[in-house]
Amino acid sequence: MLYDDDKPRKTGKRGTTEGATVGVGQSFTDRRAVRNIRTSVLVVGGGISGLHTAASLHKAGIDCHLVEARDRLGGRILSMSPPASLATEERNSLHAVDLGPSWFWPEQPHMASLIRELHLGELVFEQYSEGDTIVEYGSGRVQRGVSSASMAGSYRITGGMQALTNALAMSIDGHRVHVNAPLTQLACNDEGVEASIGDSATKQTVSSDFVVLALPPRVVDATVQFLPPLSEGHHEQFRSVSTWMAEHAKFVAIYKSPFWRGAGLSGDALSQRGPLTEIHDASPADGSFGALFGFVGIPAQQRSGLVTEMESLAVQQLGRLFGDSATKPIAVHYKDWAQDRFTATPVDSSSAKPRGLPEALADSPWNGRILFSGSETSRGRHHSNGYLEGAIESSMQSLQALKAALSQTRANRGV
Ligand SMILES: Cc1cc2nc3c(=O)[nH]c(=O)nc-3n(C[C@H](O)[C@H](O)[C@H](O)COP(=O)(O)OP(=O)(O)OC[C@H]3O[C@@H](n4cnc5c(N)ncnc54)[C@H](O)[C@@H]3O)c2cc1C
Repeated sequence: MLYDDDKPRKTGKRGTTEGATVGVGQSFTDRRAVRNIRTSVLVVGGGISGLHTAASLHKAGIDCHLVEARDRLGGRILSMSPPASLATEERNSLHAVDLGPSWFWPEQPHMASLIRELHLGELVFEQYSEGDTIVEYGSGRVQRGVSSASMAGSYRITGGMQALTNALAMSIDGHRVHVNAPLTQLACNDEGVEASIGDSATKQTVSSDFVVLALPPRVVDATVQFLPPLSEGHHEQFRSVSTWMAEHAKFVAIYKSPFWRGAGLSGDALSQRGPLTEIHDASPADGSFGALFGFVGIPAQQRSGLVTEMESLAVQQLGRLFGDSATKPIAVHYKDWAQDRFTATPVDSSSAKPRGLPEALADSPWNGRILFSGSETSRGRHHSNGYLEGAIESSMQSLQALKAALSQTRANRGV
């Protein structure tokens, strides 16, 4: 059992701020405050991997700063508060729904340790899976009770996965975390690395001994210029690592109650007709409101720009599968990750499982000054690449390499 001392509960009581996305309740600087920073380690990317790296360095007393391109932290983790009309003292905004990752699994040791370290065990609950599953065939026939819920046994977190990144972010001094701060260039020499943040009009620089790139290798290739320039072989190595789920879009419909449960349905559905191919119950642990989410099956290029159409077709489909009540959501959310340049690149057309960082990049052409973290780059035993587990695992791997390199640097300097 994962949480011997801290069993999954049906409710949680942790506060989060109001608003569209769930915030961290601490303000971070934007790129104007990056000017003239000199630090030991620059962490690039404020997803779970980069935040884990920065929080661990901070805890170990190692001087570090983190830059994040977007105006928010979390990366592929994105949790949305329910609409204000649903908020009451008991049923408040901590019941967020996830537009990125929703689940983790009992056999993932790094997720288990992180949740314990962050004291979030009481927020963990099991994915709802009681009742029949629905299958919608290409012919339009809808069949009930075909198999059991596919995600039975997986875990979710009250407040959404952003509970994890919020807790990590809160453990780092706000002035060391910079949002709206995209890395655009890395110039590496024997002394260290100079990072350019922002485009030529707004450029600021950060000097550091080491840089940890905690973002998908394809996004590194698409957004960062290296000096001296990389060989074509290195560019190919970056592009060879596919970014897990980058081409996906997720749709969530929110209802006053999880009405399908009363009808003996788990909320799970598989569809050959679409637009949603796979649907699951995304309601909070206490079932105080209902939410269904689905992955969109229409390829990224075809659905590009069709947000209203996607939302409307998805609601119609939920009506076909779960009845009339499903056609009247209180709110819907739609996130197309394929259209987000800090997750997806033009080569991300399918979610092949990332295989870890290619050797040519791991044996850094930058004298060990640039290290890689992020879910896609893990070289662990647990085949966790692509998952949250892999993001933490890769952070731990880069931390180990970094600590050895920092000791070596200190020894070389005679300190
Ligand atoms: C729809 C969806 C569903 C998923 N479901 C699950 C699930 O149920 N369970 C699971 O385990 N995993 C799931 N995943 C995968 C999971 O989200 C990732 O493994 C994990 O979030 C990756 O974390 P990361 O920190 O490695 O990368 P990211 O979260 O991608 O973080 C990288 C960060 O770098 C930033 N960045 C990019 N370019 C720059 C730049 N030039 N300068 C500065 N910053 C930059 C980005 O904005 C981002 O914040 C899902 C992913 C998606 C999209």
